[in-house]
Amino acid sequence: MKHFSGNGCADGYVKSEVLKKKTAAVLLAETAKDAQEELRLFEDGMVKLENRLEELYHKTLMESGEEAAELIETYQVILCDRQFFDQIRERIQQEKLSCCMAIQAECDACEKLFSEMEDAYMRERFEDIRAVCNELISVLGDGPGALSEVVIDRPVVIVADTLTPVDTVKMDKEYLRGFVTETGGETSHAVILARALGIPAVTGAAGIMEAAQDGMEILLNGTDGDVVLEPDAGTKKEFECKMQKAAEESLRFEKEPPGEVYTRDGQRVRIAVNASDAAPIQGLDLCDGIGLFRTEFLYMQQEDYPSEELLYQTYQEAVRRAGKKEVVFRTLDIGGDKALGYMGLPEEENPFLGYRAVRICLDRPDMFKTQLRAILRASRGGNVKIMFPMISSLEELLYCREMLESCKKELHLEGVDCREDVPAGMMVETPSAVMILDQLAPYADFFSVGTNDLTQYFMAADRGNPAVHKLYDPFYPAVLRALYHIGSTAQKYHVPLSVCGEAAADIAMIPFLLGCSVEKLSIAEPMLPKVRYLVRRLHKGECTELARQIIQMQSVEEIKERLREYAENTLKRGE
Ligand code: PEP
Ligand code: MG
Repeated sequence: MKHFSGNGCADGYVKSEVLKKKTAAVLLAETAKDAQEELRLFEDGMVKLENRLEELYHKTLMESGEEAAELIETYQVILCDRQFFDQIRERIQQEKLSCCMAIQAECDACEKLFSEMEDAYMRERFEDIRAVCNELISVLGDGPGALSEVVIDRPVVIVADTLTPVDTVKMDKEYLRGFVTETGGETSHAVILARALGIPAVTGAAGIMEAAQDGMEILLNGTDGDVVLEPDAGTKKEFECKMQKAAEESLRFEKEPPGEVYTRDGQRVRIAVNASDAAPIQGLDLCDGIGLFRTEFLYMQQEDYPSEELLYQTYQEAVRRAGKKEVVFRTLDIGGDKALGYMGLPEEENPFLGYRAVRICLDRPDMFKTQLRAILRASRGGNVKIMFPMISSLEELLYCREMLESCKKELHLEGVDCREDVPAGMMVETPSAVMILDQLAPYADFFSVGTNDLTQYFMAADRGNPAVHKLYDPFYPAVLRALYHIGSTAQKYHVPLSVCGEAAADIAMIPFLLGCSVEKLSIAEPMLPKVRYLVRRLHKGECTELARQIIQMQSVEEIKERLREYAENTLKRGE
């Protein structure tokens, strides 16, 4: 039995078996299947890399010019070096190595040869060969070994060093029962996905990749962050008791009747769900529509830019399924930890402070307009809103609105029907937006606070970095004061205010948010019963007073304890 302690990021208990995500290191450690099969994998990898480089060459040429594209051309030339790659084929056949091992072995041999050369220029050329070999291994990692192509035919908990948004988008989710990762933060996209699926997730479980093997029994406690591999009988029994208790508690919340949600003193609170595709919403009668449609996930599923028609079909389907309820489409929020190969975005030292969301869209008007047109077309006959992410200046918001207006005009001229009055709002998730919120207010039809990013930018703590996990906490006074300020400004300028970050579903945070004049919470669907139950037992007047007191407090731990106790006591209330 081995025990690991990480950060419990998505509630729940699960008893299942391990499926490990294969990393380049895992692929390299793998023993060879039969030589013919390894050769087949190798040839597939070569074709894939050839295509990938070809695509990258044209994009780089268009976006960054000839000099930048030359490097890709060098890689293409290396890929045509028959002698080098024949050596790899030979190692697969003669030495019975796995294809990744054979690539690595040939690369190492080549390094030795180049390091003995006298010419410094030639020695440096080896770096290009290494880069091509690494790319090839990574392409093979995207192949049959990768999560995206593994057929998951029984319940599993995925164990990984990290899960990228692309991993989470592409993997088969039917039998997915939970995640454990060594790195990644509380609002990483794997965690957001876990919450959306209602399955537990633990991050920061150091050492688990080394200890876990495919098929091992695993106990995952996403509430406390505990993970046990190969548990003994006593541990299993204790775990099953906790599972049972949690199941009984959720039954209590599920018995709550459907319909609109009001606080005890009659304040209507809208509770919507977060979505990233047009899949049916199971709890549609329990919610007020989709409060955040993360549109980037559809882009991540594609190998190239989606057409206006594909976007339109997806958006229209989401609108149709929502019926009369609202759907808030957030425009493309790519960048940060969400990379898109085909966009040819440059590698960044500091991606969360870099080229992201509207910063990219405003530089690529054609791409942005394609999306805006699709949303506008889908607005016909529905209750559609548009939301711009990562706004950090007034100019950005005005420019986004200008683009929207020009798309409306275009569609009008083309005789395409769309709603003229689609409300356009913005995410409040950067400190700069918070500081100029009064200036932004006249141009925003609504504000939606992205607490995931707001926390990382206010605390200067990367949301995915476990080393700063303690600082990445929305209960710090700095973040709470920002929220309080956002609430008073929104109220002063009569701008409707919602919260769509993960804090909106944190029961300890909700009373504070209502006390900051938040009118709508947009949350992961599985959280609907509990959040509805809580809000119906809250008193808006009391929450306002509570928020006023909380922002005077100094200690994050005391704040958390006070708010947790308040929420727990409220949940204990009967009717
Ligand atoms: C947020 O930042 O809180 C948010 C909702 O956006 P995302 O998590 O997609 O960055
Ligand atoms: Mg965000």
